[in-house]
Formats: sequence, structure tokens, C-alpha cells
Amino acid sequence: MPSGIGLDSKAVRSRMVHKLAAQGISDAQVLAAMGQVERHRFVDTALVNQAYEDTSLPIGLGQTISKPNVVARMLELLRQGRAAPMGRVLEIGTGCGYQAAVLSRLAAEVYSIERLRGLHDKARENLRALRLANVHLLFGDGMAGYAKGAPYAAMIAAAGGEAIPPAWVEQLAVGGRLVAPLQMADGTQALVVLDKTPQGVTRTVLEAVYFVPLKSGTS
Ligand code: SAH
Repeated sequence: MPSGIGLDSKAVRSRMVHKLAAQGISDAQVLAAMGQVERHRFVDTALVNQAYEDTSLPIGLGQTISKPNVVARMLELLRQGRAAPMGRVLEIGTGCGYQAAVLSRLAAEVYSIERLRGLHDKARENLRALRLANVHLLFGDGMAGYAKGAPYAAMIAAAGGEAIPPAWVEQLAVGGRLVAPLQMADGTQALVVLDKTPQGVTRTVLEAVYFVPLKSGTS
């Protein structure tokens, strides 16, 4: 890592966290987790200088790591303002592993699935040094969810499709919440929250977002 630019210091992240708070993120546990995970360790050396800016960054194979504000927003929605950590969480789209690392501080167990072998391997490498015993990286098509870990207290997708795969709703626990980007009828993408209640599934459509497409199969 380049030295002298302070990226390995807590101060840079703490600035990022203050900015997130100013942008409206209020969940103290999400802010603390974002302040702890070193985002610069998940991006290529050439992009290290931008690691704590509020921007999405390329992570290879045409994919991107979401901007901090979007990660924080989705995690805040996922936690529903609860005091306790979440139970088992499924993340669809591991990418470089950054969000999985943040999630590991907010949930008992994190299952994260990626369909691109190259990124699955990269995430494994990025996370190795962190020794996060509660993060389980899986290679496969996340559209099928991951039945072995179900039911999940929460599910979060980092890629947006035209519909929420039925497997996700099936594998969500009653009382659980799913946060995902979803393509709307007009072709734009919006953040969607699904709550599975004893009475059925409710759906809330939130702000516009720009995520990479959810694709089927592995590669
Ligand atoms: N959370 C990630 C963001 C990665 S971008 C991070 O912190 O880096 C979204 C990822 O979703 C991409 O890596 C893409 O390959 C993956 N993806 C798309 N469709 C998928 C699917 N059906 N199953 C698993 N991963 C998928």
C-alpha cells in the first residue's frame, strides 16, 4: 500500500463516516462498521486514492463496488433499526468482498454468493487477511439463493434483475427483509424492500439506483 497518504489510518474512514452521517445515514452500527472496514484493501492499487470517495469503482470483469453511500443505505434498510445483530444473512453478488466484510460486523453469519469465478477468488484473497470466521463465500448462481443456509434473517443483492427470484422469497425467514435493486416497468432501476410477514410479502419501492445486471448461470 502506498504510504504517506494516510489511507491506512482511521482518519480517512472517519471522514467518510461523517459524510455518510451528513448524507442521512443514522444507524450507528452501520456507521461503525463502515468506519472499521478498510475499503482501500478491496480495490486495485491504481484506485486506492479514490477508495474513500463517494463513488463506485471498477473491480474487474466489468463489475463495480457500490459507492459507500449506497452500501450504507442498503445495510441500514436491512437492519430495520434493530439493536441486535442480524442472524444469518445472504448476499447475492460478492464482487470484491467489501460489503461482505461490512456485513460480517452486523450479522451472526454471512453467506455471500458470486457467479464469476474470477471475482469469487478475488474476494477470497481480499478477505483472507481479515480472518472473518463468520463469512462464507460461495461460488454459484445466486438467483437460486443458497438453500443450505436458509431461512435468512436478511438478504441483500448487489445486482438488479427484472424480477425478484422466487427462491429468494422462499429462503427469507418470516420477519425477514430483502433489499435489492429491481428493474421497473419503465426500464429504470429502483431499490426495493421486501418484508416477509406472517400475512404475506409486502413490497416498498424506494429511490432510483444503478447496479450491474443480475445474470443467471456461472462463468
Ligand atoms: N457487494 C459487492 C458488489 C459487487 S457488484 C462488493 O462489495 O464488491 C455485483 C456482483 O453481482 C458482481 O460481481 C456480479 O458478478 C454479481 N452477480 C450478478 N448476478 C449474479 C448472480 N446471479 N449470482 C451471483 N452473483 C451475481
